[in-house]
Amino acid sequence: MNLNIGDKKTKLLLSLAKTPLLFYPRYKYHLPLPSMMMIENTNLCNAECVMCPRELLSRKRGFMDLGLFEKLIREVSGLKRKPVTHLHGFGEPMLDKLLPERIRLAKAYGIKHTYIVSNASLLSSETSRKIIDAGLDKMKISFYGTDEESYNTTMKRLDFEVTFQNIKDFLRIRKEMKRRHPRLILQYLPTEANHARTNEFRALWEPLIDEKAGDCLNVTALHNYGGGRGYNQMGKKIVSVCYFPWASMSVLWDGRVVTCCMDSNGVQVLGDLNSQTVKEVWTGPALTDVRDDFRKLQYDAYPVCRSCDWVRRRGL
Ligand code: SF4
Repeated sequence: MNLNIGDKKTKLLLSLAKTPLLFYPRYKYHLPLPSMMMIENTNLCNAECVMCPRELLSRKRGFMDLGLFEKLIREVSGLKRKPVTHLHGFGEPMLDKLLPERIRLAKAYGIKHTYIVSNASLLSSETSRKIIDAGLDKMKISFYGTDEESYNTTMKRLDFEVTFQNIKDFLRIRKEMKRRHPRLILQYLPTEANHARTNEFRALWEPLIDEKAGDCLNVTALHNYGGGRGYNQMGKKIVSVCYFPWASMSVLWDGRVVTCCMDSNGVQVLGDLNSQTVKEVWTGPALTDVRDDFRKLQYDAYPVCRSCDWVRRRGL
């Protein structure tokens, strides 16, 4: 199953997994390797979306070295059950000219589910052909507006018409190439800036997407981006277990491993894949300590987690 936070079919599963009483006994164990690898190809972005705390990014910007990328993929592809592999992080993945090569490489190593989240502003016809040809399995596009005014004031520095046309071209090209992949998730985030016109968003895209190919629309909700924003009121108590250390590994473009993708500045580092293997980090003392703390709902030692609204509610 392709776990993508925000997808309807995974919401129930994920909210169940956050329930301490139900899953406590299981938190004693973890899989031999992560079931989801989140590999940041770059932390550069061409947009300044209002909900994204990009202005707080103090970490060095760059692209993951292809040799390091191949090492990670090789290390996680040995098992029968291969991880869902996200090829993006705190940046726009299509700024990376090596993206099609990375997808191709992951597929060559037998990774079944490759996945990116993009703003699609750079999804030219040529890029569409390349990522389809490389074998990308799934692509989520954040499209947070319903017209020029609402889109351009939310997804700053991008242009409604350009992106809208890119996505329409992608759908046409995929059809011409007689391919069903990548399946498309078009995501909307109702906010004050875009006037929360969810019905208009549906009316705009429903006639265009191909549900038979597995395309769908997804409406998500604002969160606090690990303390980078303050949209949701923080509950006083931590009430749920964050399952990320049991399920996934988040790797920054420079090879450092962090607790999750909310740690955009690399504050909670658990290892470095330049000098360690995925397995060494996954079974090593740093992640073991995190799991021990999280299962007891102790997040005090983790500054990003302390500001996370996600563990202060049971649902998503
Ligand atoms: S910030 Fe911490 S608690 Fe929140 S989702 Fe990430 S790892 Fe879990």
